[in-house]
Amino acid sequence: MSKVNNVLMVSAEVVPFAKTGGLGDVVGSLPKALNEIGLNCKVVMPLYGNIAMKYKENMKYLGYIYIDMNWRHQYCGIFTLNYQGVDYYFVDNEYYYKKGLVYDDNDLEKYSFLCLACFEVAKYINFKVDILHIHDWHTGAVAALLNDVYCHDLFFANCKCVYTIHNLAYQGIYDKRFVLDYLPLDSRKYENTNSINLMALGIIYAHKVTTVSPTYAKEILTSEYGENLNGVLYNEQNKLVGILNGIDYDSYNCEKDEYIDFKYPKRRFVSGKRANKKALLHELSLNEDVNVPLIGIISRLASQKGMNLVNDVLQGLLAYQNVNVVLLGSGDKKLEYEFDMLAKRYHNKFKAILRFDNQMAHKIYASADLFLMPSAFEPCGLAQMICLQYGTLPLVRCCGGLKDSIEAFNEYTLTGNGFSFNNYNATDFYNTIMYALSVYNRKKLWNKAIRNGFKCDFSWKKSAMEYKKLYEEIK
Ligand code: ADP
Repeated sequence: MSKVNNVLMVSAEVVPFAKTGGLGDVVGSLPKALNEIGLNCKVVMPLYGNIAMKYKENMKYLGYIYIDMNWRHQYCGIFTLNYQGVDYYFVDNEYYYKKGLVYDDNDLEKYSFLCLACFEVAKYINFKVDILHIHDWHTGAVAALLNDVYCHDLFFANCKCVYTIHNLAYQGIYDKRFVLDYLPLDSRKYENTNSINLMALGIIYAHKVTTVSPTYAKEILTSEYGENLNGVLYNEQNKLVGILNGIDYDSYNCEKDEYIDFKYPKRRFVSGKRANKKALLHELSLNEDVNVPLIGIISRLASQKGMNLVNDVLQGLLAYQNVNVVLLGSGDKKLEYEFDMLAKRYHNKFKAILRFDNQMAHKIYASADLFLMPSAFEPCGLAQMICLQYGTLPLVRCCGGLKDSIEAFNEYTLTGNGFSFNNYNATDFYNTIMYALSVYNRKKLWNKAIRNGFKCDFSWKKSAMEYKKLYEEIK
């Protein structure tokens, strides 16, 4: 165990520059938290064409290098920006990144470029990396490249690699002919296989593998949650650790959130939420009675997120209960259609906003009473932690990070910060919503659960300390 100073993070998504989900949130917050506890963490990511102008115009152009992707000799511009105390390095190649952050048919090539570029950028800026911290399948090949190629480069002689799995469901599995055409990996290792799984490369070749919650770290060793990689993970389990994500308390803060209609201090959450709820109900043309419970959902519309269960229970909920529901999300086209039809039918009780809209997300967090997250599996989940900051109670399925962050409210001991159910089925989900609504009608209990939620510490500082400890273990 020795001292760690220089950490280089590499990711396809980093908030506030590019985000489709929790990966972006995490890599947007963790470097700042690591620097605050004394490390020197820098970040490499693509210069996507749709990064907001307000960031682009403040970036400094450092110069360019070429990246050799076997026979390809590709231009790589390097731009930098210091944002909130962290140095970000953006690799520029318009062929790969101009059209913005979209996961598409060319992912293998464009993220192979990123995997190679991070090493070359480190050398260009003369950053002697102690820990290369990589995230999800897009950067899994970095671990293999360190093992096969860059370990022979003295510049990386002391470099160790940490790989974080944010979601095992997306693995990046490609025909080996393409992978070996883009990446100078040791082809002898792949003689007996037709395809290469980039997520598996990260797991096998990194010195430590982390997942974003302790429960998910255990779950992925089973065939139920292992996405066919449970065997690989089982072999590597002694280097597998779960560290719960934090959330950015500056971005998600009811006292200073610029996106919401009325900011409120936590101690005045009753009136603060009421004012926001009234404004949102009005904006969305929903039944404007603020006493009616408002149920919020903000999610990718994917089966992972339990959106099929939401679809199953919504009809009954809207037909028989006095509730308002607002759903923000996009994804699965069939689900979008179903939600759209329901919204037309129950237009004064249910609004389906089928797009990605950060401001609307904040408004919903601030206004809703109950927040639904019935995930089939959940590596960590951020939304349940975010909504607690606004005095909105999450109702979750007990799995992964949801299990590690939400404790079911017990009306006798007055403990717990939300509601939860175990079995993935619509009946248990519906019954738990009914129970939550019964607590909503007993305001003293409801407000007690909210106050319990306010007391939880989901700050990044706690997680950053655990990562630091982990880095030091492998040095
Ligand atoms: P995942 O990363 O699996 O999508 P998480 O709960 O970890 O789920 O993180 C989701 C993040 O994305 C949260 O910050 C949530 O508020 C945000 N989000 C999800 N869908 C939308 C949307 N349609 N509009 C705005 N923000 C969204």
